[in-house]
Amino acid sequence: MARKTEKAADLASSVQRSILCLVYCLCPVHRAGDCETQPGFNLVISLLSAQIYDTMTGTDTTEKACTHPPRETATLRNATAWIFDLDNTLYSSKFNLFDQIDDRMRSYIAAFLGLAVDDAYRLQKRYFREFGTSLRGLMHLHDMDPKPFLECVHDIDLSVLPPSPELGAALARLPGRKIIHTNASIRHAERVTERLGVAHHFDSVFGIVEANYQPKPEPVAYDMVVQRFDLDPRTTVMVEDMARNLAPAARLGMTTVWVRTDTAYGNEGADEACIDHETDDLAAWLQGVVDG
Ligand SMILES: [Mg+2]
Repeated sequence: MARKTEKAADLASSVQRSILCLVYCLCPVHRAGDCETQPGFNLVISLLSAQIYDTMTGTDTTEKACTHPPRETATLRNATAWIFDLDNTLYSSKFNLFDQIDDRMRSYIAAFLGLAVDDAYRLQKRYFREFGTSLRGLMHLHDMDPKPFLECVHDIDLSVLPPSPELGAALARLPGRKIIHTNASIRHAERVTERLGVAHHFDSVFGIVEANYQPKPEPVAYDMVVQRFDLDPRTTVMVEDMARNLAPAARLGMTTVWVRTDTAYGNEGADEACIDHETDDLAAWLQGVVDG
């Protein structure tokens, strides 16, 4: 599946470049030097590339979530490792931090591709659905350099986020290694956990760069975490706000905890039977685990 996706993305990228070259030669406006700044022109090319990608991979690229055999889920208090997502998991989605990131992504994409902001937003969401992250779609279909993108979109105001002594107290008493696995950068994870006052409770952070830009829910990203930290999935618990990101963890045999939010993207995939536990208050739920 991952290999097929890579090949389709490569083909779509090649076709896109070929079309751009052809239009460059034929378009009188472009010869005048400003065709690449026409939003309509760029949107057509971008959507055409995405359509080629869809055709190559099939319209439904979502793997069925829970086709794994029945698991014996870990006893939570005896888990040897905990994998936590970061955004909207370690802090509540009500603080709208992700809205700030979302706005910065939209502006970056609009400037990078020369699109109107609304068109950039549509493309951003389409790539998010089809590639796991908008970044991955931009890298595959537009050869975008990920480093300045990550620095820009995570340069957000964290002052709206209050410290969370409740979460810190629960993490302090929770047995087992604690790892953050995020589709964002390590720097972003450090800033957020420092702001929450919980950074010192985590043993490691595994970010999108360390995953070679393979985002959750790509199964290879989970394999990398298991190998990097020498985890036994049968005694590992994964905690996440995006339900669809729990399915690959469940297939590996991990116990899954879904942190419910009121976001539509968080609920995607929740109907699949991959979720062992769920909560809308992580700190209180963890406190219940350690209190037994
Ligand atoms: Mg999240």
